[in-house]
This record gives sequence, structure tokens and C-alpha cells, in this order.
Amino acid sequence: MFNAITIGLMMVLFKGAVYERGSEGFDCRAYQYATTSYRDTGSMDPDYIVYAQNDNDVISAVTLARQHRIAIAVRTGGHHYVNLGGHCQTGGYGASARSFGLLSDHIQKLRIVTAEKEQPEFRWIHRHSESEEEQKLFYSVVGGSPGNFGVITHVTLKVHKDEDHSLSRGVRGRIPYCRETLKQLLDLVLEMGDDEDFPADYDVVITMTSERPAQYADTPEEAKIIVWGQWANLEGAGQVYDPTFFKKLIDIACGNDNDNSNNNNSMSPHERVLLQDEEMVMSELNNHWIIPIVREFQLPYFKNVKASDLPSSELRARKYTEWVTERIDRIEANTQATECYLVHQFAYSGGRHSRFAHNGDDGLTSFSWRDSSFIFVLDVFYNGEKPKVKAFAQEYQKETEQEALGEGVGKLSNQDRRLLWGSQDRNLHAARRFYFDQAPAKYERLAANKARFDPLNVFTPNKFSVQAPPGQEGAMMVAGLKRAAIRLWQTIIDAPGKRREEATTEL
Ligand SMILES: Cc1cc2nc3c(=O)[nH]c(=O)nc-3n(C[C@H](O)[C@H](O)[C@H](O)COP(=O)(O)OP(=O)(O)OC[C@H]3O[C@@H](n4cnc5c(N)ncnc54)[C@H](O)[C@@H]3O)c2cc1C
Repeated sequence: MFNAITIGLMMVLFKGAVYERGSEGFDCRAYQYATTSYRDTGSMDPDYIVYAQNDNDVISAVTLARQHRIAIAVRTGGHHYVNLGGHCQTGGYGASARSFGLLSDHIQKLRIVTAEKEQPEFRWIHRHSESEEEQKLFYSVVGGSPGNFGVITHVTLKVHKDEDHSLSRGVRGRIPYCRETLKQLLDLVLEMGDDEDFPADYDVVITMTSERPAQYADTPEEAKIIVWGQWANLEGAGQVYDPTFFKKLIDIACGNDNDNSNNNNSMSPHERVLLQDEEMVMSELNNHWIIPIVREFQLPYFKNVKASDLPSSELRARKYTEWVTERIDRIEANTQATECYLVHQFAYSGGRHSRFAHNGDDGLTSFSWRDSSFIFVLDVFYNGEKPKVKAFAQEYQKETEQEALGEGVGKLSNQDRRLLWGSQDRNLHAARRFYFDQAPAKYERLAANKARFDPLNVFTPNKFSVQAPPGQEGAMMVAGLKRAAIRLWQTIIDAPGKRREEATTEL
């Protein structure tokens, strides 16, 4: 803990409010939605929270942290919503990944303060900088490990223009959950991967969610499947659209394909939006991918996000769609008894033209697993008030992992490929081979950069951090750290007169 003189100094130093642990209002400000399922396993737990109001507040916090050997955690979101501060470092994986890559692929420059100098100062670092120092910092910050290198205050993004995608098209709707229909939809997503040349214009995400009982959800609902599809019109006005793929998607969803799925539904609006291969400009379409709900269930959950190294043919040979729908059905047939609720998502990210794959080719950022063919989200929510239910959910996820992964046998992937945005680990160094390439080179490069830009481990608030190489760990060790948090308010600056190709956001 700080001494009284330091606390007095802090109150004078900061324009923004400072909250000490135990003071009124501290607990709700320390609340972290993303780690509420793991509160008992050492998530961020600060002694002080500083609401930085301006650059000086940030600089003062970093300077104080250096002087007093306090670790800092930075936060812009962390409640029920996602903000740009972390999102631009963890990637921004979404419903446009094949067509446009990750959100972070669009960062042109960012403004950051690091802690290697006695008097920290802000600087802009550019994506295409010639400076070796900027290159190292950009590489580390964008994809390395969020919040472990410095405090970001501004990000400038390359933006896309509607007029370049004026004929884009979308599918969005929901249907009641049915195992056979889900399997057929997943089989269709596998088909995308059968053709290496499948156009990058197509992104499809299939989501299934369990029934939402009134006690755990704002709006109670039956179990459902949500179908999302986007055709991005990447070649602009002259591009000819072929409706075959979306027709297949809608036919399966609506039970029009003369199969034996027992499904005679039409798609109904999902969160009031129904698109059945409608044409519209890209900005409008993208607005439809933002869902105005807090979270599917007001319950703790075990997260499980995996990227796959297997092509469609191999996933088919390993009977992945049979396996995954059988597992889903095991819970779905019995949600009342298990008190577990699923949110599962399935997306194809591969193919020769995928921007998700190719935006990483320049090596300027450090995101891993760009060669992955599929991304799977297999979250299980559970009634946290009952230890037996929690144990069941944990065991179910463990079994999923065991069956999903393994060289030559895994239903989803040979390798265990995890993504920072869906992290489920507490210790990044221990789990490094799952988050970075299996060869140690990338992590070692990040670790060397950590020693260079954060030699005192100021930005090491918990163990989910890149560790400097042995012998260069810095003055502060993770165990027994004093901690503080800087909370940055995120506001979007409307910047008239700025070049249209870029938009800068202040955090
Ligand atoms: C309900 C939910 C759904 C999600 N869905 C998706 C999804 O579909 N796709 C996807 O890609 N991700 C998704 N995520 C993950 C999300 O993108 C990441 O958790 C992201 O890092 C959140 O950023 P934040 O700024 O809101 O969070 P924060 O908790 O503020 O920050 C997350 C991390 O970034 C660091 N950080 C934050 N701001 C700064 C800053 N200004 N400077 C330096 N470091 C900073 C923090 O220290 C922390 O390590 C989801 C998360 C939630 C909770």
C-alpha cells in the first residue's frame, strides 16, 4: 500500500478521480465483466483506480508506478461492452474477417506512452515506420499481449468507403434450434473450404444459443440458431453477384432443401433484423452485425475459443459436425437438469483469398494462427450458485478439449490454437505455445521487446502478461505486486476536415 504522503500527492497530481480500495464507489469501478467467472483465480485486483482525464494524468500514473514499483493495468472497456483500447490489441475478430481481416489490420498509427524512461512521454508509432524501435513496439502492441507495453490514447484506422462496396449483401435471421439443421449449416460452412478459391467476399457465422430462461436473460427465448452471412462486393460496382451460396444457406435454414431435417421454418428476425440476401451498402450491413444485448446469459461461463489447423476435408473425415452437434444436443436435451447454457459460434476463415490469412503476411503485427481455417467459440454458461453445476460445466469443457484437439485425432484441430481475445488462461508465459506460434521464436521476440520497453515490469498487473527473458525480468516480480489501474474514458472524436481514408479515435 502507498503511504499517506503518496496518497495526498496522488490526489493533487491527478485531475481525474482516484479511488482507493475500500472507499465508496471502488467496488463497482473495479468490476471487470470479462473476468467475473474467474474471480477466485487471481484476476486484476487493484489497490487504486485512477480515472485519467488527460495526458498529464496518464504520465503521472506511469511515473508514480515507476518510482514506487507499482504495476499498472489499463482499462478502457471491461464492463459489459467492448472498447477499442483492448480490442485493437487483441485483434477485433468479427463477421467480416475473411473479407477485410481484423480490426487491428486497419491501424495506421497509435499514440502510446511506455515506461522505459524516467520521464515517460507520449509518441505516435506508425505501422509503416522505418524506425527499428517503432517497428518493434508496433509489432509487440498490436497482437503481442494487450496492456503489457504501455498506455494507448489514440488510434488512427484506415477506413473503408461505402461507394467501394455499394452492392454488398447480407443474410441475418434466426430459426429454432434443431440438431439436424445445425449440422447441415455447419456442413455447408465446411463446403466453403472445399474450394481454395472460394471468394473472399463471403463471411458466414453460424451461432447457436440455448434457451434463455427469464431468470438469466433480459428477454427470455427458445434455443435458436442464428445465421449471419455477408457478401462484401470487394471488386466494387462492376462485380457480378452469384446468389447460389446464400440460396443454399437460406434453404437449409428455412427447411426448403427437401431433406429430412423436420424443419419447416422460415427465418424470423434476429433482434428485430431479418435479411434474406438483401443488397445494401457496407456501413449499413455492418451496423446489423452489432447486437444490442449485454450478454446472452447473466451467468458465469467457461470460455473456449479455438482456431483450427485442419482443412475442410480433414474435418469431414474426422466427423467434426456429427461430433459437435452430438455434444451440443447432450446439453440441449437437458438444460433444466444440467443448468448449463451454450453459446457456440462457427466461422470459416481460410482459403487462398482470405484477408484474415493474408493481412498478416507483412509481419508488422504479431497476431498468431493466421493460417487457421476455422474459428470455433464453444462457451458454456452455468448456474454459478451450485458447485455441482459448475463442476459439471468444467468437466464438459475438459472433455470437449480432450476430444477436440490432438495430432491426427482431434475433431477440431491437431494443435491447440488459442486467441488472446478468447483467453481462458491465467498465466500467459506458461501457456505461451497455445497463444503464439508453436515455435518459440515469436514469444521470445515479444519477451525481448518487453524487457526493452517495460524494463521495470510496470505493465505487468497479473500473470497473463509477456515475461521478459530470464535475467532481464526487471525490478518488480509478478508475485506480491502492488497494483493500480488507469481507467480511460473512450470517446469518438468527430474530426471534420480529416482525410477520409483515416479516422482517429481518442480513448
Ligand atoms: C461479451 C464479449 C464479447 C466479445 N466478442 C468478441 C469478438 O467477437 N471478437 C473479438 O475479437 N473479441 C471479442 N471480445 C474480446 C474483446 O475484444 C477483448 O476483450 C478486448 O481486449 C476488450 O477491450 P476493452 O478495451 O473493452 O477491454 P479492457 O478490459 O479495457 O482491456 C482489455 C485488455 O486491453 C488492455 N487495454 C485496454 N485499454 C488499453 C489502453 N488504452 N492502452 C493499453 N492497454 C489497454 C487492458 O490492459 C487489458 O489487458 C469480446 C469480449 C466480451 C466481454
